[in-house]
Amino acid sequence: MAFGWIDEEARTRRRAGLVRTLRPRPADTPLLDLASNDYLGLTRHPEVVEGAAEAARTWGGGSTGSRLVTGTTALHTELERALAAFCGFEAALVFSSGYAANLAAVTALGPHGSLIVSDAGNHASLIDGCRLARGGTQVVGHADPEAVRKVLAAHTGAAIVVSDTVFSVDGDRAPLTALAEACREHGAGLVVDDAHGLGVLGDGGRGAPYAAGLAGAEDVVVTATLSKSLGSQGGVVLGPARVIDHLVNAARTFIFDTGLAPAAAGAALAALRLLERAPERAARAREVAAELYARLTASGLEAVRPDAAVVSVRAPSPERAVRWAADCRTAGLAVGCFRPPSVPDGISRLRLTARADLSGAEIERAVRVIGETRP
Ligand code: PMP
Repeated sequence: MAFGWIDEEARTRRRAGLVRTLRPRPADTPLLDLASNDYLGLTRHPEVVEGAAEAARTWGGGSTGSRLVTGTTALHTELERALAAFCGFEAALVFSSGYAANLAAVTALGPHGSLIVSDAGNHASLIDGCRLARGGTQVVGHADPEAVRKVLAAHTGAAIVVSDTVFSVDGDRAPLTALAEACREHGAGLVVDDAHGLGVLGDGGRGAPYAAGLAGAEDVVVTATLSKSLGSQGGVVLGPARVIDHLVNAARTFIFDTGLAPAAAGAALAALRLLERAPERAARAREVAAELYARLTASGLEAVRPDAAVVSVRAPSPERAVRWAADCRTAGLAVGCFRPPSVPDGISRLRLTARADLSGAEIERAVRVIGETRP
């Protein structure tokens, strides 16, 4: 029977307690949200919603084509200029998602004969970029610049080092300065995914590379999503103009994909302008994360000290993690739940988002619910 093997896979998944299901959410819910990636609480900000609406009224529901044909509007180029200026890079290129941006950066900068050095904790989209690239990939231990150095030293020819800046599972930060040093010693390029850093880290949310003094460097390329701090949808690659020109000509997820929807571009631009005017939002997200961590660990829970706005709380097993998240939901709190195969180390966690717009009372309520429902 066609697809017969998937029934056996489904049974295995059920036995392991790893079945995933979709749950549509209502527009308005009394749930306290610590599960989304809306770090700055901008998704439903009136200016962001108006940015989307105005763009849709002006340009329509879709961008009508690929970027090189009809899919580039004045709004796309304005957004690219604004993102590049904000993050401190010479140029930027906007994609339909952060996933597509990562596939583009890794495949276009990791050609045949080159070496791609990839952190073991990298996001799935970077991993898939490595799988699609023609260059050879060498996976190194998590946040281990010495291992990166060794692998680079053993290779002659073009190389890139690929890493998240803030890792999505535990919320810990990559050793960017040491990685950049290792790259420079060996003439390699550094490609970092700042999905969880943009809007949270660096002066006014300019991102982790900015905070590390790497913004605008000729050997550094940054990818990011517009779907987290910027409350919209889409992705971006930031870097030297010659790298961005190369992507325009060589990156398949740029060339063959329909341009970002105008509404998404308009929302992201409005969020960026808002962040420029209210840079304290970035610091507040970090503050909320630190407070969540302090209170959770004080109540005896095991959590990873947050480097940005992701707080990861350890659960005893995948089944109990799922149960814990469900019990939180019943008690009015939405939290994320990470378990295999999303976590290669097999450790299940609750994943909390420290939103800049959470009040002290909401933080207190979240910590109380997590403690009371603890398995
Ligand atoms: N990189 C990281 C680290 C992410 O967490 C995500 C989103 N989950 C992505 C890339 C993909 O971005 P997008 O959702 O915009 O495709």
